[in-house]
Amino acid sequence: MKAIRVNTPGGPDVMRYEEVPEPTPKAGEATVKVDAAGINYIDVYQRSGQYKLALPLTLGLEAGGTVTAIGSNVTEVKVGDKVAYTGVPGAYAQYAVVPSARLVSLPTGLSTRQGAAAMLQGLTAHYLACSTYPLKSGDTCLVHAAAGGVGLLLCQIAKMRGARVIGTVSTEDKAKLAREAGASDVILYMKQDFEAEVKRLTDGKGLQVVYDSVGQTTFDKGFNCLAPRGMMALYGQSSGPIGPFDLQTLNAKGSLFLTRPSLNHHIITRAELLQRSGELLGWIRDGKLKLRTEFEFPLKDASEAHRALEGRKTTGKVLLIP
Ligand code: NDP
Repeated sequence: MKAIRVNTPGGPDVMRYEEVPEPTPKAGEATVKVDAAGINYIDVYQRSGQYKLALPLTLGLEAGGTVTAIGSNVTEVKVGDKVAYTGVPGAYAQYAVVPSARLVSLPTGLSTRQGAAAMLQGLTAHYLACSTYPLKSGDTCLVHAAAGGVGLLLCQIAKMRGARVIGTVSTEDKAKLAREAGASDVILYMKQDFEAEVKRLTDGKGLQVVYDSVGQTTFDKGFNCLAPRGMMALYGQSSGPIGPFDLQTLNAKGSLFLTRPSLNHHIITRAELLQRSGELLGWIRDGKLKLRTEFEFPLKDASEAHRALEGRKTTGKVLLIP
């Protein structure tokens, strides 16, 4: 089968479209014929070596597809089931072997492509808005990179929970998408000072939570946007890692909270995976949550897809089609 392999860390060109043996499932595993693999920013960190992994590796942490084989002791799925998953390496490929406890059966009416598009970024938006800081009516939140993969979903879930959403984006086109996803106000953070804008938009009261996936270029200023006892949820670093942090800042700026959460710790048990994904996929099936999947690339063009993502050219989900 074909897969995208990384043999040495580096830029998008280090990804190779190679022939590799088709994997076979062991006990507790299932083979999934991948219909679509999701691209996520973490793939960039893994490819470039910013997150260190043993090489060579097949990139990709998320896919949707059909179960074609199961090992012994598999109870969760059967051959022919339409499934999606996240958090298991090796998705940029025609076939992937996945622990069956990580597979989620798709509800009727949802395609495998939608499943691939929903899992990693959707579950992230879910835990951020429902668990990390459970938004409620009366809250105002800031969503950085609001037209991105996580961003568009987070805006919609935040709005569904009754919060007021302020988004930041780099372009007018992205601002339009963020507004359609539920942001009442959108700040062009390359041109405008987002701290001053947030203060103006909240009459100086500040925010209950900042959801920051951008990191280096936004992190410090975000603290100045929070109301007393507000929360900074730093969940990514698309612009680069942040430097050392002085905890005294949290005191000086209003008894603030800081967290650096990760999806893995919010779907540890199968029960939590099924609870979160059931709610998420249900919203999509019922039309309450819209997926934006405008950016699809053939599997062999993974380098091009990464260039587009890193070049801030994409909005919503980016998919690879084997
Ligand atoms: P996005 O689709 O959001 O793409 C990244 C966006 O970040 C860009 O489109 C761009 O939006 C913005 N950005 C700002 N500065 C830069 C820069 N210097 N270079 C590139 N992009 C920049 O990606 P994802 O939705 O896949 O992921 C967003 C972030 O969330 C990533 O950092 C990712 O690692 C993290 N993440 C964390 C998870 C967790 O559980 N902790 C899970 C999932 C994702 P604009 O042009 O509008 O500025």
